Amino acid sequence: MGAERSIIWFRRDLRIHDHPALAHAGRDGREVVPVFVLDPSLVRPSGTPRLAFMYRSLRALDAALGGRLVVRHGDPDTMIPRLVAEAGADEVVVTRDYAPYGRARDAAVAAALADAGVRFSGKGTPYAVAPGTVVKADGTPYAVFTPFSRAWREVGWPQPLAGDAHDVAVHRVRGLGSDGIPADPAIDCELPPATEDAAHDQWESFVADGLDHYGARRNEPGVAGTSQISLYLRWGQLHPRQMLADLGDSRSHDTFRKELAWREFYADVLFHQPETARHNLQRKLDAMELDEGAAARTRFDAWAEGRTGYPIVDAGMRQLLATGWMHNRVRMITASFLVKDLHLPWQWGARHFMRHLVDGDLASNQHGWQWTAGTGTDAAPYFRVFNPITQGRKFDPDGDYVRRWVPGTESVDDVHEPRQPIVDHAVERAEALRRYQEATGR
Ligand code: FAD
Repeated sequence: MGAERSIIWFRRDLRIHDHPALAHAGRDGREVVPVFVLDPSLVRPSGTPRLAFMYRSLRALDAALGGRLVVRHGDPDTMIPRLVAEAGADEVVVTRDYAPYGRARDAAVAAALADAGVRFSGKGTPYAVAPGTVVKADGTPYAVFTPFSRAWREVGWPQPLAGDAHDVAVHRVRGLGSDGIPADPAIDCELPPATEDAAHDQWESFVADGLDHYGARRNEPGVAGTSQISLYLRWGQLHPRQMLADLGDSRSHDTFRKELAWREFYADVLFHQPETARHNLQRKLDAMELDEGAAARTRFDAWAEGRTGYPIVDAGMRQLLATGWMHNRVRMITASFLVKDLHLPWQWGARHFMRHLVDGDLASNQHGWQWTAGTGTDAAPYFRVFNPITQGRKFDPDGDYVRRWVPGTESVDDVHEPRQPIVDHAVERAEALRRYQEATGR
């Protein structure tokens, strides 16, 4: 009775190729029942583009699994044991999750399953190197990116696994109902296709046309100089080891490998210090005076809606709302503006990004924010304040990016000149430095 049947519980690994957990579930001819639990705790804070992309990804996964994906809506610690009982399975296999919520959820599910004598196994991770693996000689974690990235490369990663779901016995258990994948919420942006094939196509076209120019073009938001692969990494249609296997030793390739290492570094930092999802990593900056209250809210709304009067900031915020993605350079500029020109808590901005980014990832997002705010690991010092006008002129020299996203700028000559700015950058920069000195005594 069900002794040879595994449940593979998909989460952020929505693919069928190079999938260690799927291969493990189907080892020795075991029957595999693929499931996904639509967890209200993760659905609630997600904006509509992210939800739409997730639902489309699930539909693509279901198709790749021959229509056998069982979807249940509810809390995993109730749903997974129930599915195990209904399917007559004796184990649940997952790709390990390292973020704070995922770890707590998996511990609760594993405990509930253990009571019923069912194994809960984690195989593989969303990273080339599992968080917690790269440590200093004395066994402590790295706090600085560059030595981490060197050690990370030395630890290394395996080649992608051959084979796919067709090599395992994906099974439909009679009577095992699925709640189905919800219809897409209404969105007014176009999203990239949410299939594993599309992820590979995107990567292959970047390798063919973009990778060798990455070092030179990656900072210019007006040109398509980056891979735009982050959403596929977020949802697992592509695994980083598949990309790393294609990289050589040229400078551009090396720069790209380092960017992938940032993703791994931040996951590692969050793994060791889960409280940094909400709190400053550098606790001494807790003393910093921040603005809150109604006037602060009004400024936040202007920022979020792309109405600050600083063209590059407004362009970025509008790109985020329109597409669910924003260029990395502009993520840094808009984040710096919220923290240092508006004096608002980085957590407000991080929450807005997480809601709207289709690639929204807790580790990269919260630590991207902390880096910019100067409160994080290896952070840009607080006193380094981005000037949104000079940043715009330097990285969007022809103004193409601003013209694309800010209405009314199409025929303006000096496109980076502020128009009706909500604050004066020079004044707010001085104010940010004053608050920093007051908080730190420096
Ligand atoms: P590429 O330049 O082509 O880089 C390739 C891959 O490397 C990316 O897909 C990503 O996985 C990784 N990477 C690149 N830069 C970084 C970085 N600075 N930190 C971590 N990983 C990196 N990235 C997310 O995936 N999710 C987020 O929620 C997120 N929030 C961010 C918030 C802020 C305030 C900042 C400054 C950065 C954030 N990033 C986040 C990192 C980065 O902006 C995006 O990964 C990148 O813009 C994605 O576009 P791409 O795939 O074209 O990047």
